[in-house]
Amino acid sequence: MAENKDAVTHFDAIVVGSGISGGWAAKELCEKGLKTLVLERGRNVEHIRDYPTASTPVWDFKYRGALPKSVLDANPYISRAAGYDASTAHFFVKDADHPYIQEKPFEWIRGYQVGGKSLIWGRACARWSAMDFTAPHRYGYGIEWPVGYDDIAPWYSHVEKFIGVCGNKDGIDTMPDGEFQPAFELNCVEQHLKEVVAEKFNRHYVSGRWAQVTQPQEIHKEQHRQCLSRNLCMRGCPLGGYFSSNASTLPWAEKTGNLTIRPFSVVHSVIYDEQSGKAAGVKVIDAQTKEEIIYHAKIIFLNASALNTNLILLNSVSERFPNGLGNDNGLLGKYICFHNYRASVSGEFDGFEDKYYKVSKPSECIIPNFRNVYQQDTDFVGGYVIFSAGYREKLNDENVPAVLGAAFKEAISKPGKWGAYMYMQGETIPKASNHVRLSKDKKDEWGIPLLITSVDYDDNDDRMVKDFIEQGTAMMAAAGAKNIVVNDNRQPPGLDIHEMGGVRMGKDPATSLLNEWNQLHHCKNVFVTDGACMTSTGNQSPSILYMSLTARAANYAVEQLKKGAL
Ligand SMILES: Cc1cc2nc3c(=O)[nH]c(=O)nc-3n(C[C@H](O)[C@H](O)[C@H](O)COP(=O)(O)OP(=O)(O)OC[C@H]3O[C@@H](n4cnc5c(N)ncnc54)[C@H](O)[C@@H]3O)c2cc1C
Ligand code: SF4
Repeated sequence: MAENKDAVTHFDAIVVGSGISGGWAAKELCEKGLKTLVLERGRNVEHIRDYPTASTPVWDFKYRGALPKSVLDANPYISRAAGYDASTAHFFVKDADHPYIQEKPFEWIRGYQVGGKSLIWGRACARWSAMDFTAPHRYGYGIEWPVGYDDIAPWYSHVEKFIGVCGNKDGIDTMPDGEFQPAFELNCVEQHLKEVVAEKFNRHYVSGRWAQVTQPQEIHKEQHRQCLSRNLCMRGCPLGGYFSSNASTLPWAEKTGNLTIRPFSVVHSVIYDEQSGKAAGVKVIDAQTKEEIIYHAKIIFLNASALNTNLILLNSVSERFPNGLGNDNGLLGKYICFHNYRASVSGEFDGFEDKYYKVSKPSECIIPNFRNVYQQDTDFVGGYVIFSAGYREKLNDENVPAVLGAAFKEAISKPGKWGAYMYMQGETIPKASNHVRLSKDKKDEWGIPLLITSVDYDDNDDRMVKDFIEQGTAMMAAAGAKNIVVNDNRQPPGLDIHEMGGVRMGKDPATSLLNEWNQLHHCKNVFVTDGACMTSTGNQSPSILYMSLTARAANYAVEQLKKGAL
């Protein structure tokens, strides 16, 4: 991405953040002809050029990809994040670099660079079902979403066609089909699990819907090649085989000639104009020089990732909004929720020793939610999906003798045991007590108050974990798994990587901050379309919903702008 630090300070639109949702805002707004400024607090990361480890073989890393103890000791939180190792560490924020205050343990995983976490995300990309949108209201554990599946379905299609999502049309009502490219095949243990789970539990076990380009279409030809299952995605893919802002939306936006992207730009706050009753622009602190700059625009999209968007709005105080922009009801920063990943089940499988599989694949299988779908049928509210995969070990105690030399070489050339795992991704309940707020006395090096996180599990999460462990164990046992291992890691939220809420959408301005078009109820030219906008968490991975909501809101914003309504 060409870095642009010229003196132009007036734009049609400003987008804060260049990650998964900000990239989408930039693409849609630029395509519709708006001169758009993307402000990104981190460094520039150019597709391919800035993927230093993309093709580094594991033996060329000093410790075969592991990080030395000194790095692990200095980064106790981030080093527990999925996929964090010597090949990817440069895309994760180090623990000490951007402090925040954990009132309760919350291990916040961040990626501050052009592309944000789109470079390191897991790429699971299933749609929410109609039931997921209505469940909180139907069962009384949340407010009503102002949109439903039918409103979002065309935007899911819009996004899927552009980013490339692989999957099968499985015809499952709890996980609607989309615009798919060919799915990755199940291996023999996964196929076996699929059959047992269908026959004995009447449940689905299918190939996951994943943002991998398995059959590039015309729209992909310039930026993407077919995913070759290298399974090194989190290093950045030189083929553009998976969706990231860097490979997809940002270059697309740049081609329009309407994009200006400014890295090292820490957005401090949104500026409210008391006379017009609208946002006038944003205040930026240059990350390197600490210079303060004001940028002006007609519309502002906040896409700084859920908790940072909360921070920016809480820090946007004015005479009209002394408690944060749009915060008349005092709910800004409240109802933070996340996905519960605490528990997993794994086991070994006999009987497949004569079978092998071609290569590793960059996706997993999924068992869509089967709990509390049409009625409340458990002692907890909400649902969970299960991610699962079958694998064949390379090295294990049985086939690696305690010797070195030729015997060892011979042993490691043989495939090991077959195994499979399942882990849960559970809905959590939006609660006012789970919140973020600003520190009154501690600031970061750019003069911005530190964020305090006060977020925890509750009894509902414990009951859901118990149910998953029972169900996961039963399914594995029914499939003949041996040596089943169950784990509830009780990891702090944050590590669950799908934080949401704080600026939730809703029908009623008394109980929500955003309307059905993601506009602040009380400051209509400010749109929030990252995870902060979520009214509830559902049980599917959320990022494709952020992208769809962003595209929908951006198109609406342009229409309104053209009508002179913003
Ligand atoms: C290891 C891992 C695996 C994941 N797997 C999946 C998955 O399989 N499926 C899924 O749906 N989701 C997954 N996620 C979550 C996914 O990455 C996020 O939901 C998604 O990136 C959120 O998009 P975003 O645009 O809100 O934020 P981000 O992608 O984080 O982008 C936000 C950007 O804003 C910038 N920014 C922040 N504050 C400011 C500021 N004050 N001024 C200027 N810029 C700012 C940041 O530097 C960043 O570039 C995963 C996350 C992780 C860490
Ligand atoms: S699995 Fe596909 S997207 Fe991931 S690094 Fe390999 S080729 Fe690229």
